[in-house]
Amino acid sequence: MKIIKRAERVEAVEYSLYFESIEFRGGGFSFPCSKDGVVGELAPAGQANYEMCLKDNGKTYENMGVESNSWSYMEPAEGRCDCGSTVVLSHDETECSKCKRLYNIFGQELRRLSPEEEAYERANDYAYSSEELY
Ligand SMILES: [Zn+2]
Repeated sequence: MKIIKRAERVEAVEYSLYFESIEFRGGGFSFPCSKDGVVGELAPAGQANYEMCLKDNGKTYENMGVESNSWSYMEPAEGRCDCGSTVVLSHDETECSKCKRLYNIFGQELRRLSPEEEAYERANDYAYSSEELY
């Protein structure tokens, strides 16, 4: 297998404009927006709430400004199988959907177990998960 795309960490961020209830601090409304606080198109109920917050700003709800929420995640590597198919290496024992070759998360081809080895593995898995060992 040839790795055609390396695994990479992806950083993501979302912004929301937050209006906090003056009477019930900690509660309120937030609306998805741009980094600069520009709220885009909302569903009708969301739009009605947004307009209410703008109208009531400082009375019932207070505009607390833009809040950001960021996170990151791993985008899995992709490899070109010997058969020409692209395989997303998201977990160990990933099977090529076309030729059924098995690969680990690094793109190394794995040998398939014989039926006897499969049975042995299953018995071992059972033994290790069983409380009889403890
Ligand atoms: Zn393949």
